[in-house]
Amino acid sequence: MPGIVIVGAGHAAVQLVTSLRQDGYDGDLTIIGDEPHLPYQRPPLSKTYMKHGEAERLLLKAESFFETNRITLLAGTRVVAIDREARQAITAPGTHIDYDHLVLATGAQNVRPPLTGAHHPAILELRTLAHAEAIRARLARTGKAIVIGGGFIGLEFAAMAAGEGVSSTIVEAGPRLMARAVSPLISDSFLDYHRSLGNEVLLDAPASEIVGTREDLIESVRLADGRVLSGDLVLLAAGVRPNTDLAEQAGIACRNGILVDGRLATDDPRISAIGDCASVLTIDGIHQRLESVQAATDQARHLSRRLAKGDEAGGYHAVPWFWSDQGELKLQIAGLASDADGFEDRRGAGTARTIVGFRGDHLVSVETINAAGDHMAARRLLALPQPLTRQRLSDSAYDLRALAK
Ligand code: FAD
Repeated sequence: MPGIVIVGAGHAAVQLVTSLRQDGYDGDLTIIGDEPHLPYQRPPLSKTYMKHGEAERLLLKAESFFETNRITLLAGTRVVAIDREARQAITAPGTHIDYDHLVLATGAQNVRPPLTGAHHPAILELRTLAHAEAIRARLARTGKAIVIGGGFIGLEFAAMAAGEGVSSTIVEAGPRLMARAVSPLISDSFLDYHRSLGNEVLLDAPASEIVGTREDLIESVRLADGRVLSGDLVLLAAGVRPNTDLAEQAGIACRNGILVDGRLATDDPRISAIGDCASVLTIDGIHQRLESVQAATDQARHLSRRLAKGDEAGGYHAVPWFWSDQGELKLQIAGLASDADGFEDRRGAGTARTIVGFRGDHLVSVETINAAGDHMAARRLLALPQPLTRQRLSDSAYDLRALAK
């Protein structure tokens, strides 16, 4: 029996097979993933893994889970084509795998910005366990690092490296850190924090050239304004793009991700897409692609209900949330700060901080630093059917936990 075949063996795929069995799906399940390992968690790669280096602590599920739940896991196997007519996924060795339903959970890959030398083999990047292993090995021989890109991954690396006694120069092309996802107040806090760790942060400083005359060594990074930086390790962390090649070759509609409706179905009713690779139609009628464990796992749960139980009711909707650990600071975001046009800054004890974001009069985001209680409350408040008003929050003196009770 063909059953459900999932391409990609990351967070979305593992949550989907878990939910499908919980929801009573009894058919065949196959996961095909091109990495050689059992599926693992990516977030620790830029956080705790750099310290402990123990890959087995990253596993999403033990090997026995796949056996017990009758899930065929084809690791180290790349799907190179989809034959939609024959309903088959075709792998690199040429095996044709039949499906009743195909789920694309192919994730994303790091982008190489158009700068001279961007493909030098000594440049490090961070997306996979193999990348993280290479960085760990290199870090031990590093006095000074250069990080190209002031987003979450570059900053998490720089905070972790500072803890190991390696300072970084972080070069960011834009005017502030993590600009795509956080408020200016959070950008400024993390700018101060990284400087306090001994990291140099250069804003409005696009890199223009990576200079390396030897295969194994980068001599310098040149900035557009002519400054030249040198370091023993160069990490390129300039964002990601969704893995859509397979879908595009199969003629499935893509635009910054594989386009899916609120049921997470592509324009082929036998093919769905979830996780970092999927651009999902929201209840506001726009397509949105998020790169987070929350989106990957909530979309997997939603899709499971349709595939296992035939539940077609209601489009996908979930409060987005995200976290980033940088040294002593735990940043948590509920909702999307990029949707907000005004912010209210509330400082708590010590390093704790809560920044409430509004669009017009309505609550749309809550960013917290070292304030987990406020974050959890914010997730409940943002899920309310009626958005909270500025007045209501002000009347409660911004006591999110009391409001969420
Ligand atoms: P992935 O986990 O990327 O899995 C996709 C898999 O599909 C990959 O293994 C890929 O190689 C494979 N694949 C692709 N094409 C094919 C093919 N043709 N054939 C077979 N296999 C294929 N999110 C958070 O919410 N919080 C964090 O703190 C956080 N930290 C992060 C730190 C790092 C270093 C990284 C890299 C990511 C982090 N993220 C974080 C993002 C989070 O890991 C992703 O949103 C999540 O992994 C998405 O899950 P996914 O299943 O969609 O894709």
